[in-house]
Amino acid sequence: MGVFFRTLRVYLTNLGLFVAGIFSAVFAVLFYLPKKAIPYLKKTFSSARLFLKRAAVLVLIAALVTGSLWLALSTGEQKKAVELKLNGNTVGWAETKAEAEQARTAALSALGITNADGVEIAEGRTPACNLKSAATLSQLLQRALSNGRVTVCEVVVDGIVLCALEDESVVRSVLNDKLNRAAAAYPDSTVSFSETVALRSASYEADDERIWTPEKFKLAVGTLDAITVQHVACEKTVSPLAYDTVELQTNTLFIGDSRVRREGRDGQEYVVDLVTYVGQNKVLSKQLMSVTVLQPVSRVVERGMRAGSLTTSQGYTVTQTTGVFAWPVVGLYTVTSLFGPRSLGYHHGLDISGANAAGSLVVAAAGGTVVEAGWSTGGLGNYVQIDHGNGIETLYAHMQNNSLMVSVGDVVTKGQALGRVGNTGYSFGAHLHFGVLINGTVVDPAPYLGL
Ligand SMILES: [Zn+2]
Repeated sequence: MGVFFRTLRVYLTNLGLFVAGIFSAVFAVLFYLPKKAIPYLKKTFSSARLFLKRAAVLVLIAALVTGSLWLALSTGEQKKAVELKLNGNTVGWAETKAEAEQARTAALSALGITNADGVEIAEGRTPACNLKSAATLSQLLQRALSNGRVTVCEVVVDGIVLCALEDESVVRSVLNDKLNRAAAAYPDSTVSFSETVALRSASYEADDERIWTPEKFKLAVGTLDAITVQHVACEKTVSPLAYDTVELQTNTLFIGDSRVRREGRDGQEYVVDLVTYVGQNKVLSKQLMSVTVLQPVSRVVERGMRAGSLTTSQGYTVTQTTGVFAWPVVGLYTVTSLFGPRSLGYHHGLDISGANAAGSLVVAAAGGTVVEAGWSTGGLGNYVQIDHGNGIETLYAHMQNNSLMVSVGDVVTKGQALGRVGNTGYSFGAHLHFGVLINGTVVDPAPYLGL
């Protein structure tokens, strides 16, 4: 349509000029015409009516001729060109398609518009004076596109456009507000949004429903938690480091027996974690460092490897040690106290105990003659002493009351029952105190028991 009106305007202008020319010519003729034409003119001018009639016909013919000529000429001047249109209306003309496309791309990019369905590029013809540069055309298109549009601030959450607001400062203030409140609630933390929140400028139709009011945005961000705040804190803790158990094999114990050589003790570890919370919920924890402030101490357990030869007698089993003696108790193998100095005074023997010690059978370590059997006033409780000959004697103490099975003078065989393990005399818990005397002097019984 624009082209048509422009064409018409040029046409009418030319027509006016033509009419003015005609009148000038008429006046020139009036002043400079040769005398012989004067009678004719006089005749003509004698009647004003006739003059007007002729002049009108003349003007009309001249106008038609000029107009047709001009139209023919101007059509001939039109060039092949490319038209840029918006919703069917001409925006402008470019000389080449490339320029038109350049103008379109520049305009869309400047306005941040991705959808350009209404923009068309078509080949056609136009007078050269209509051609525009790509830059001018881009500005014209921007102006046309901006009609009924607004520039907005898009709120993009995790890559998805949540909404848009006309006032970017409102968006910034609502978001900052939310962060500031979280920062005040968790002063030792670093606060940030859980989502990736980005703001960008865009051009929207003014009535686009994605354009929110500030109130709607405040509600969504504040109350509805469209955007969540997370806080990250360094947490320091001291936690126990569990001790492990080390097992040592030993020939000083029989198979199936064990003893604790050293108790274990937990260590301590200082740990710094980087913990991420959303509200009160821990969503991520990453250990930044750990330092052992106290090394754990391993529990050491000795486990017996020594096999004894077994002697069966009267329904119970006696263990022959690798020493000269049989083990003096049936079923108890834990040595609870060795020969030698200890807190209760020098220990003149070796204590043997174990689970459910009381009542276990005490047996002769070797064959011999009973030299003592009865109550000791020296703290041994009920005890038995056997002479094995060659100056060797053995002693069995703290046995249960009324459990002694031998009397002085009895000849016993190796493994013969003497009594039962008890807690009599100077004793703190059921055990057998086993002693060895060489020529009347107490010695360490361990080697005689293969320990
Ligand atoms: Zn003892």
